[in-house]
Amino acid sequence: MQPHGQRAAEPGGAELDALVFGVKPALRLVLSHAELARMEARLRDAGMHLVRARRNGRHVLYASRDASRAEELARLEARLALDGFLPRALFVDTQLAIGALLGYPPCCVRAFASRYVRRGGVVRRTIFRRPRPDYTAAREAWVARPRPRLNQLRAGTHAALISFEPCSFECAAATALADAIAGAVREKDAPRLARIDALLARAVAIARDDVRVVVELDAERTRIVAATPPSRDARPAHAALAERLQGAQIGPDGAVGDDVLVVDFGRT
Ligand SMILES: [Zn+2]
Repeated sequence: MQPHGQRAAEPGGAELDALVFGVKPALRLVLSHAELARMEARLRDAGMHLVRARRNGRHVLYASRDASRAEELARLEARLALDGFLPRALFVDTQLAIGALLGYPPCCVRAFASRYVRRGGVVRRTIFRRPRPDYTAAREAWVARPRPRLNQLRAGTHAALISFEPCSFECAAATALADAIAGAVREKDAPRLARIDALLARAVAIARDDVRVVVELDAERTRIVAATPPSRDARPAHAALAERLQGAQIGPDGAVGDDVLVVDFGRT
C-alpha cells in the first residue's frame, strides 16, 4: 500500500518545485522504468540525495537534500510492506513518522491511518464490497466550503498541489502547506499556477466505486446542471455517471442518492 493514500506524485508536478524550493523536506515519487533515469538526473542536479526502492513492480524514489531523511523514509516504508500483518499501533506510528519526514500535516496523517485501521487492512477490503478508500476519505473530509487548493480528487485532470488526503477539505495545516507549494510553483512559473488553480476550483462528484466526474452547479449550488467525463482516461463508467448526474439534486451534506458525493471546490 501507499503511505497516506498518497497518489503517485506526477513526475515534474507541483511538489517537485516545492522540494527544490525547500517548501517540502522530502518527496516520494512512484515512477515507471522509463521515467526513472531522467528523474534521478534532474533531482541530482537539484542537489538531492536519492534512495531507490521497488514496490509492486514500480520504482519508488525517495528524494531529499538530507541523505538520512531519504534513507529513513525508505526504511520505514519497507516496514509498511508487511501491510495487514503489522500490529495496529506500530502501523499508525510508522505512518506518522513517514508523514513527518515528508512534511505532511500530522492531523491528516492520523486521519488516514485511522481510516486504514478501521477498514481492516488489505485482506478484508478485498473480501467485502465496501466503498473505495478515496470515496471514504472524501466523505470524511467533506465540508460545505472546501478550499480549492486541497482538491486532490483529480477528476479529469492530473493537476494537484498536494499528494495526500486532507483530514478535512478546510484543514488549516493542509491549506498552509498547499499555499506554500503554490508559492513555489508561482516562483518558477506563475501562469502554470494560474492554470492549476483554475483546474482545482471546480466541483467534483465521486461515486462509491471511485469513478469521478467534474460537475457544474446552478447558482444556488444545489443542483447539477452539467457533468463532464474526464477527457483523458475516460471509461464507459464515467459517461454513465455523468449522464446519471445531469439535473440531480445535491443534499445538504453533498450527497446525491446514497452512492455519490459532490465536493464543491468551485464555490466562491
Ligand atoms: Zn489535517
